[in-house]
Order: sequence, then C-alpha cells, then structure tokens
Amino acid sequence: MALYESLPLEDGAQISTVRFIAFDQLGHDSKIIRSIDKASDLLLFVESDENLRGKRWHIQRLFFLISSARHFSRELAAAGYRVLYLRSESFSAALAKVDAALPNSMKVAMEPASFRLHRTLLDHGYRLLENDLFLTAKEEFKEWAASKKSLLMENFYRAQRIRLNILMDGDQPLGGTWNLDHDNRLPPPKNHIWPEYLRHERDEIDGEVIKELRAAYPNLWGDDPDQSWATTRSGALRQLEHFLAHHLKDFGPLEDAMPRAEESWQVHHSLLSPYLNNGLLHPREVIDRAIARFEEGDIPLSSIEGFVRQIIGWREYVYGIYWLFGEEYRKENRLRATRELLPLFHEPKRTKMACVNDIVSSVEKRAWVHHIPRLMVLSNLALLTGIDPEEFLDWMSEVFIDAYDWVMVPNVIGMGVHADGGRMMTKPYAAGGAYISRMSNHCKGCVFDPKTRSETDSCPFTTLYWDFLDRHREEFSKNHRIAQQVRGLDRLKDLDQLRERAREVLSRLSDGTL
Ligand SMILES: Cc1cc2nc3c(=O)[nH]c(=O)nc-3n(C[C@H](O)[C@H](O)[C@H](O)COP(=O)(O)OP(=O)(O)OC[C@H]3O[C@@H](n4cnc5c(N)ncnc54)[C@H](O)[C@@H]3O)c2cc1C
Ligand code: SF4
Repeated sequence: MALYESLPLEDGAQISTVRFIAFDQLGHDSKIIRSIDKASDLLLFVESDENLRGKRWHIQRLFFLISSARHFSRELAAAGYRVLYLRSESFSAALAKVDAALPNSMKVAMEPASFRLHRTLLDHGYRLLENDLFLTAKEEFKEWAASKKSLLMENFYRAQRIRLNILMDGDQPLGGTWNLDHDNRLPPPKNHIWPEYLRHERDEIDGEVIKELRAAYPNLWGDDPDQSWATTRSGALRQLEHFLAHHLKDFGPLEDAMPRAEESWQVHHSLLSPYLNNGLLHPREVIDRAIARFEEGDIPLSSIEGFVRQIIGWREYVYGIYWLFGEEYRKENRLRATRELLPLFHEPKRTKMACVNDIVSSVEKRAWVHHIPRLMVLSNLALLTGIDPEEFLDWMSEVFIDAYDWVMVPNVIGMGVHADGGRMMTKPYAAGGAYISRMSNHCKGCVFDPKTRSETDSCPFTTLYWDFLDRHREEFSKNHRIAQQVRGLDRLKDLDQLRERAREVLSRLSDGTL
C-alpha cells in the first residue's frame, strides 16, 4: 500500500472506513490497528499547525511528537496499510476535508486521552472506540472512586495490584508489604558510578523535522534535539531493555535523589514516559518485562515495587483523576495565586539559586527532569511564590517531552501547586531548603544558606516556605496534615524580619534579579 499526503487519493480506492490516529496513539497493537481491513480502510494522521503555533514550545517536545508520528505512519505504509498523512492549519480543517472527499465512509477513532480532541472528533461524527493504551478504563476508575470515601492513591494502587495480579503472593503482597517507599529516600551517594545513558541515532526523518521546526516556528525554546530520545518503537524497546539492564536495580532507593545534571541527568529513572504516553510502548509490556527481569534474581523488591507503583499506580491514577474531575479542573485556583511566571523559567542562568539554575537548564537541554525536581523544586517554587496555576501549567506543558493534558493537569494542579484545595492530595508539597539540601548535591555550590530564613543570604526556599505558611495560616491550620508546621510559626522570633525578607525575595524573583 502507500502513504498519501493529499486528497483525493491517487489510487481512487473506495474507502469504507477512515481510522483517525492521534499523535499520542501510536500503539502498534491497539484495537484500531488490529481490526483494520487493509484493502478498504484508510489510516488518517493529522499534523496541525494550530497546535504548534503561538506557544513557546520546547523544540524537543514538538520534534518528538512529530518525528514519532511520521516514523510510525511510514512504517504502517511500508507494512501494507493505506495511510493519509495530512498537514493542515487545524484538526477541524483536516477532518472537514476528509469528510468532503470521502462522505460515504465510516469514521472511527480511538477515544482520545484528553478533552479537547475528544470534542473535535465527536463534532465531526467520529465513532469512538475504547482507548486501550491504559490498563484501567476511565469508567473503571470512576466506579472505584465512587466506592471510596477518600481518593488516596495508595488504596487505588493496592486495588490495582490485586486486580492485575502483579507482585502478589496469593491475596497478600509479595514480601508482606504493599509499599516500600520508606526504603526509597536516599540522597545521591558519594562516588556512585552512574551508567551512561543510551544514545539514539538520528535519521533522515528526524533531521527533516528539526529543520522544518526551526524554519517555521522562530519562538521555540530549548536546545536542538540531541540523542536522548528515540522516535521509533524499536528505539523505545531498546530504551526499555537498557533501563532493565542498567538502572532497575538501583531505581527504588535512589528514586528521589537529585545529583547535579553534570553528575547524572537520568539518575536511575527509566526515561520511558515519552513512549508510554505516545503509545510506542504499552504499560502492560513494560510491566511484564520488568517483572521478568525481577524474576531473574538480582533486583531488590524495593526497586521493582517502586517501579510497578509508578506505572500501575500513579500513571493510571492520574489518568482516572483527569477524567473524574472534568475539564474545568485545570482552572482551579483555591490558593488565589496570581503572580506571573518568573523570568527564570525561561532564562535559568539569571538566577543564583543553584538548584533552580541547574534544573531549569537541564529542562532546556533535554525537556526532561525526574519527578522530584518537577515536584520539590519547580512546582514548589511556583507554589511558594504564588504563581498563577494555569500559567505554570502552561509552562510545564510546553517544556516537558512527556506532557499531555491528561497527565500534566492533575500532576500540576492537584499535586504540584495544590490549586484544588486538596481534592487530589491532602496536603501541599511545600518544602524549604532543608529538603533540597538533604536530597541533592546543589546546596554546597550555592550562594544561599538553606539553614537560615531571614538573613540576606538565606535560601529563598526556606524564607518562602515560612512565609507561605504564614500567608495561608488560617486555611492550613484546619488541615491536620500540615497544622503542626503552621503551629511552628508561633515559635519564630524573627517572623517580622522574615516577612520583610520574603517581600524582597518575591519582588526580586519577579524582576529576575535573584
Ligand atoms: C509536577 C509534575 C508534573 C508531571 N508531569 C508529567 C507529565 O506531563 N507526563 C508524565 O508522563 N509524567 C509527569 N509527571 C510524573 C513523572 O515526573 C514522570 O512521569 C517521570 O519523571 C518520567 O520519567 P521516567 O519515565 O524516567 O519515570 P520513572 O521514574 O522511570 O517512572 C516510570 C513511569 O511511571 C509513570 N509515572 C510515574 N509517576 C507518574 C505520575 N505522577 N503521573 C503519571 N505517570 C507517572 C511514568 O509513565 C513513568 O515513565 C509529573 C510529575 C510532577 C510532580
Ligand atoms: S541553598 Fe536553596 S536555592 Fe541554593 S541550592 Fe540549596 S535549596 Fe537551592
């Protein structure tokens, strides 16, 4: 068969069904591909300019999305499918064009993972098939949520372990404990040898995409793609095997550690989120391979349990929460945060805060850092400085390689900046410099002191942590998970001085001079 880039199709075939494939649905084994009739069906991909223009995207994020879709569509064409790859000003315009050219064909699509495309497809008369790229259908999650008083992730995770029969010994968790997180909080060890990351060769399609993006969108942020990210299923599978061979063993204990990027930017994380999120890998196959590797013998339970919890727990939970809380959830702002995005989020070299400088520079270089810098440094900074949650959400969505609405909205609004008043997580993840100092190697080289709070060289995180509790004293004193820290304010003898220092820190962060 062949790959077409315009309509009408040159082969003049009668198309019985058009099957739309979104750029985050590149699953080679999904139902929409498996149930295809090669002779009479058409697979439709749309590259929409509307989605690329206007925002300050990280070039690597767009590169990854587009190059993966172009590779996948060409692989399908080479395997005998009829593929139409349209470049258009918008999804709507492309779908309308297809409808006009093929008015009598049926239109089907896999249910999109996020709200916006869902609506567009329904408006154009597409029948939606179940999204089988997750382990838990959103209706299943809704049923679970309806049966519970609290939406604690840990309870969902345990139910998943039982339902999917993963790391179970009969009806009990393997090893007798559900969660070994308390073993998984080590800082970066001294003299640790971090494995080299896997490099993915760039090919002609990759080169073509980088060139086109640079020419068409002058406003892009970040460094050009290097060899960190694969854009094919075979590359994604190599990444999975590399992780199992070199990182899974130490994954658990060092999961939260933050060395400086020059020591290791990957730490022992899998780097699989981009491929899980665009469909090149399925969570089931990742779990099956990880369990098989564990069964070979030298992987500690704390590492395999920690990894399994991320995939069948957190990932599926966040997807369920996104659909449960609805489209308006992204607009929550219960802490009434209104500050504009700080300049350091686009110009990291301007800040003297060593941790922030290193982490945002790392995002600039690769469009990725692991969950602790995302949560305890970037989101923590947004939370403590009171950045408008939607502005921060937009920045995170623009710059991370693995960002999609369904995953970024709950992670930022619910977990990162507590804008939902505790609907998802019961307490804000707010922390001063002491946490960052304990879990990272950043503070030793920093001009600020994480141990003091109201001096001119006090760590901005420490100052702002106390100031944040002070500003929200009334609402947090009712929250039993943080009330004790709030009571700590009464013991501070330097509160007035601290408030003054906080005002200065906030103003200088907004000016881009701290
Ligand atoms: C504020 C914030 C924003 C985040 N935004 C995203 C995002 O846009 N896209 C994204 O995929 N992850 C997001 N995460 C979760 C997590 O940071 C990334 O999944 C992880 O860093 C990806 O790297 P990895 O594949 O090496 O992950 P590993 O540490 O190796 O974990 C394995 C897998 O678990 C899954 N996972 C773990 N935690 C989460 C979570 N909280 N939500 C969803 N999946 C999870 C991912 O698929 C990941 O690939 C966010 C976390 C925070 C705190
Ligand atoms: S002292 Fe504060 S600003 Fe400096 S690296 Fe440590 S936590 Fe970051």
